[in-house]
Amino acid sequence: MKKKFVPIILLIFILSVPMFAATGCKRSTPDCTTYDIWLDIGEEKIECTQSVYFVNDTDYLLADLKFNVYANAYDIKKPLACVPQEEANAYPEGVSYGKFELEGVFGEYQKYEFDFDSNIITVTLADPIKKGDSVKVDFVYDLTLPHTTLRYGFNECGISLTGFYPQLCALVDGEWYFDEFSAIGDPYFADTANYNVTFNVPEDCEYASSGKCKESTKDGEKFISAKAENIRDFAIVLSADSQKYTAKHNGVQISYIGENPDAVEYAKKALDTYGKLFGKYAYDTLAIADMPFVAGGMEYGSLCVINRSLTGAAYEEVVAHEIAHQWWYSAVGSNNLCDAWQDEGLTSYATYLYFVNTGNATYADSMLCDAYTQFHKFCDIQNSVGEPVKGKLGGKLKDLPGNYYYVNLTYNKAMIMWKYMQDTIGKDNLIKALAHYYGQNKFAVASVRDMYDSIDEIYPNASALMQSWISNC
Ligand SMILES: [Zn+2]
Repeated sequence: MKKKFVPIILLIFILSVPMFAATGCKRSTPDCTTYDIWLDIGEEKIECTQSVYFVNDTDYLLADLKFNVYANAYDIKKPLACVPQEEANAYPEGVSYGKFELEGVFGEYQKYEFDFDSNIITVTLADPIKKGDSVKVDFVYDLTLPHTTLRYGFNECGISLTGFYPQLCALVDGEWYFDEFSAIGDPYFADTANYNVTFNVPEDCEYASSGKCKESTKDGEKFISAKAENIRDFAIVLSADSQKYTAKHNGVQISYIGENPDAVEYAKKALDTYGKLFGKYAYDTLAIADMPFVAGGMEYGSLCVINRSLTGAAYEEVVAHEIAHQWWYSAVGSNNLCDAWQDEGLTSYATYLYFVNTGNATYADSMLCDAYTQFHKFCDIQNSVGEPVKGKLGGKLKDLPGNYYYVNLTYNKAMIMWKYMQDTIGKDNLIKALAHYYGQNKFAVASVRDMYDSIDEIYPNASALMQSWISNC
């Protein structure tokens, strides 16, 4: 793996020609928040240069920007980024740590502070910015990756670059929303943005990336320029022992790296199924990467990671699940640090519908049956210790007692709730309501109230049926 980028030269360039790379939007000055990131992937380190053009599209006056550095959660001074039960799978070669080194912050600000404990970089602006105003901030940083099968790091098959960059926290009611990094559930929470990302592909590696990719070669090394719009986060997977398969399906460029080309067929079926049920797929690319992974899979902006040890229908289920997240996570966001059930429950129910609609009702039934069985066992245990879970779905990730609790509420109970809604208001009404929810909240972060409102617009008072299942934090 040779180094080709010289970040300091790039830095001088981006500082002297501030808007040169603002290709995420049609104009030279972006009218929506845009990240331009350059990565030099070397053997020991990844050197990164990043420009963020933030556009205030809210009615709030903003005096600062807050960036969450998820990569910092893997530092040796931090608790492990997994729960104790996952440790052996997450670190098969022994516990390993990463390092995020901030070399500098440049641009239109008064001061900045990197709080190691919270992983948050706060950039105090020279002047508060109002709606329609924009500001540009540049970062230079180095990444040393942990050896792990978690979301971020390297292992014997390749590299997972997710949550690797300082990412703006989501703005909720004018406040930057963040919480401590959680080993339970999905710790990433952000607003959608546009991305232009350039990276080199180490020799003999295949890649999967968010966005539309253009390849070029310089001095024998392959470079990728990826461009994505309105995605919730940007991810790259590099794999040393995978085949790459591609297909174009109804205008969507599908790419897959792994050893199970059926994934491409499942992806086509999933795009068709969800597109018909909820509304057109929001992006023009979809990447899937099989990797060693501590869980079944994980969703990112127009990219899904699948645990490569899965086979058969279980593999298909995870592919269908992670693709459903492109509707319920990437396009329609929700606060997964607080109401993880909102996207996971809908995604699980969508996966159930995937099997119903693609001719495998038996598997759909078995998914429901498993959810009922596991959830009722869980309820029995909770009741027996005097901690019933009636009315509980929401809750901050960091306050949840463990994965067992998280999975049973966030996935099983929430899926059962959506099946209950289907049986109560009728499948056609529910699908219409969910399509309305999708259309109304595409590229936004939908609150639980937004979800209720969308559903009630199609079927008055339907959300009242959900209230006793849910308690929001
Ligand atoms: Zn999920």
